[in-house]
Amino acid sequence: MSSMALNEDGYREFAFAAGDLFVSTDAYGRITAASGDAVLLHHPTADRLVGRNALDLISEGEAQRLKDSLWSLGPGRRVAWDDPGSMEGGRRIVVQRCTSAPDTFNFTISRIPNTMLIRGDRSEDLLGDRFRDAVMNGRLRAARQPIVDVRTGVVSHYEMLARFDGEDSPMGLITAAEKSGQISHLDYVMVRATIARLAADPDPRLRLAVNISGESIQRMDITDELCALIAGHEFRRSRLIIEVTESSYIRDIEMAAHCVNRLRATGVSVSLDDFGAGAASFGYLRALDVDGLKFDGGFLSPANSSDRSVALMRNIARMCAELGISSVGERVETEADLRVLLDCGIRYAQGYLFGRPAIDEAFFSRSPSRDAA
Ligand code: C2E
Ligand code: CA
Ligand code: CA
Repeated sequence: MSSMALNEDGYREFAFAAGDLFVSTDAYGRITAASGDAVLLHHPTADRLVGRNALDLISEGEAQRLKDSLWSLGPGRRVAWDDPGSMEGGRRIVVQRCTSAPDTFNFTISRIPNTMLIRGDRSEDLLGDRFRDAVMNGRLRAARQPIVDVRTGVVSHYEMLARFDGEDSPMGLITAAEKSGQISHLDYVMVRATIARLAADPDPRLRLAVNISGESIQRMDITDELCALIAGHEFRRSRLIIEVTESSYIRDIEMAAHCVNRLRATGVSVSLDDFGAGAASFGYLRALDVDGLKFDGGFLSPANSSDRSVALMRNIARMCAELGISSVGERVETEADLRVLLDCGIRYAQGYLFGRPAIDEAFFSRSPSRDAA
């Protein structure tokens, strides 16, 4: 990545960086230029993560230590130490005060192997750190899983699912990210890559669904960013489906309804995921004008697939049909599960019976952050 001078807008494009990073700051620690193996990411919450301050790139305790020592550093002198603040590998920080311009400091921040022992009581914070590290440092992967038409077996579209190194399911890290307010970063990165994928492959049969958290759909700034991404790429809008997951409770339903409408106004489809998993599902369906609904997989689990559960699915599917909402049944593992969906009049199915999520190695290769690197 080439050197980048950061003006007011530039700060917004500079997110938590990367492997090896070179940052110049003014006397207040404010970033004036950045270069190195960094990720450039236009994201509305970048300000919150990075601030305008190089010190925010460093874990809190170490930043204080750095602040204290900056001013005692003579021109041309440098300090170096290891910041073990992240679980997946700490950072080595080198700071040098410029000789010719003593009000400028240069930071070199590079990845170091983490040799620290991790104590259990901070596990949630550490998961949050790992999440940030993976998303911002390009260690995120994606798997795709087909969704088929139950009557014909033909693939309707694929769902893109986030994958973190060494984990089968992203659930632990996603829950930590929701708790620590970072989930919208993942949503942005996943939607951006999904759109890039669609734009790069004009085949109209390739349609992709991508998840965003209930957290993101309550935020106008994130919604604006997602709309800007959509507007910035050429692809047939009906090829993109945004699934709103119910893993995080929607508090501001009016704002969520507004954001759903804004996304739909761009021409993409919005679908309500995990229907029936939480008590609030009906409230969401009433308030949110969505194109599709995905029954939570729990409806088909052996413990639940009673007559009662099937009657509920059948009638909800009927109601969806009346409202013009398409429905998908999830976690379809057996022929018996498939028969339940057929019997309930549910048109689409997803599950191991049709294909497991498979890593899509090329998914992030078209993403602008990699192009910039
Ligand atoms: P989800 O959106 O309900 O995704 C479907 C989950 O069911 C996936 O779990 C998938 O691997 C799993 N699955 C698919 N077929 C079967 C089956 O036949 N049997 C069983 N037992 N499971 C099946 P995964 O990949 O572990 O993801 C878990 C959840 O994490 C997702 O649930 C979604 O809520 C969240 N998630 C995944 N990727 C993203 C993302 O990019 N952004 C956000 N915000 N959330 C994501
Ligand atoms: Ca989903
Ligand atoms: Ca689901």
